[in-house]
Amino acid sequence: MIVFDNSYARLPEATHTKLSPSPVSAPKLIAFNDQLAQILGLKPGEISPNDMAQVFSGNHLLDGSDPLATAYSGHQFGNWNPTLGDGRAILLGETIGSDGQRYDIQLKGSGRTPFSRNGDGRAALGPVLREYVVSEAMHALGIPTTRALAAVSTGDKVQRETALPGAIVTRVAASHIRVGTFQYFAARRDIETLRALFDHVVARHYPDCSTPMELFRAVMDRQAILIAHWMSVGFIHGVMNTDNCQIAGETIDYGPCAFMDVFHPDQVFSSIDRGGRYRYKNQPDIGVWNMAQFATSLIPLFDDQDAAIEALNDALNQFVATFKTEHDRLFLRKIGLSKPEKSDISLVADLLTLMAENQADFTNTFRALSGDAARDQFADPTAFDHWSQGWKERLASQPDPIEVMNTSNPAIIARNHRIEEMIQSATQGDYSKFERMTQELARPFDATNSTLTRPPTEQEIVHATFCGT
Ligand code: AMP
Ligand code: MG
Repeated sequence: MIVFDNSYARLPEATHTKLSPSPVSAPKLIAFNDQLAQILGLKPGEISPNDMAQVFSGNHLLDGSDPLATAYSGHQFGNWNPTLGDGRAILLGETIGSDGQRYDIQLKGSGRTPFSRNGDGRAALGPVLREYVVSEAMHALGIPTTRALAAVSTGDKVQRETALPGAIVTRVAASHIRVGTFQYFAARRDIETLRALFDHVVARHYPDCSTPMELFRAVMDRQAILIAHWMSVGFIHGVMNTDNCQIAGETIDYGPCAFMDVFHPDQVFSSIDRGGRYRYKNQPDIGVWNMAQFATSLIPLFDDQDAAIEALNDALNQFVATFKTEHDRLFLRKIGLSKPEKSDISLVADLLTLMAENQADFTNTFRALSGDAARDQFADPTAFDHWSQGWKERLASQPDPIEVMNTSNPAIIARNHRIEEMIQSATQGDYSKFERMTQELARPFDATNSTLTRPPTEQEIVHATFCGT
């Protein structure tokens, strides 16, 4: 059984509203993550599938859960919104896993809360399955992320552009505290609660930190490293708003996100990102922007606030260096160079330029580097041949380059057109594609005959992704 220990619920009242999920009419368990469940203390077979549907739809509360919706603000596409909060999510509680880590267990799509504004508090099946598949794929790639414990269909319709089947995903996270959570109290000049939140976050996520400046640096480092990892697998988050920037440094909120097929640094998918603010290559700059907002929200915690502004500004300058060091390390490994020299980074930059010029598939090109077919990924294969001469010279001196490449370059990613196809099928009641996809993506570095290796045809290309809200 899950043993709850709800530390967030013990924070000052202003941080949350206690309320239960709204019941759904006919919950059915669609997916359940046995491996994750065991970490959380749920033994296989301990709860029947029917009971699980009741629990992970919010119809039945487990003993010890203390459900609540958290308060937060956020900059959405750069625009300040003082009151966001969990409008369609409810935190059931926290548990210490068998790995000693503290986990939040949250339902998403569980009904209206005081933060719902005009929303219905619900989620459609498509976005629920997308979050399930992509967050678990991210985990399997070794990139920090929230995870998916369960997906349940509700038996109720949700009205979007059309009426769609409703569903709820159970999200598991180190916590759901965001930059926007700090902003909420800083903006309200509620310094007492801001300080309580700071103490909570330090104790929970950053026990080595004791001052606001130390916390700032530590959060910034995790963000910089996280974004470098996204870049290394061609991932575009799509909505890097400050409310979707998690303090513990996990990827959170799989809305209009996507892994790129053909590489282009200006790639954008999100239908609501008209200016391309969150395009692939902007992600590190947005990381800096978000950390500047975090810094601002911490200023009230400093004794000398004028000095704090200067010191935080100086610290913020470190973001780009941390990002670049990790980005370069990851990309050098992708081309097999685990003992690089300083000048080797130009090989990475040149390859990426050629890939963009030659409409090369991001995943397949890197994966093919350990074989002999990478040139086929380029519209003009001789462009690759030219590049590879210098590369092969450098590769000769490197330890285990094939092994390094095959453990750095996934063979498969959650391709957008396959996700769309999977959602179409699931909406018709056929979950076989969903099941196959989650199974395959659990082992992304194993070369397989997966349908996920093939890039989309012209007709299959997904040009825009949607939040589904
Ligand atoms: P997101 O874009 O998913 O990060 O959500 C931004 C904000 O909108 C958050 O405060 C959400 O809780 C809220 N929200 C999104 N979808 C819904 C919905 N269907 N009902 C109520 N609130 C929602
Ligand atoms: Mg969000």
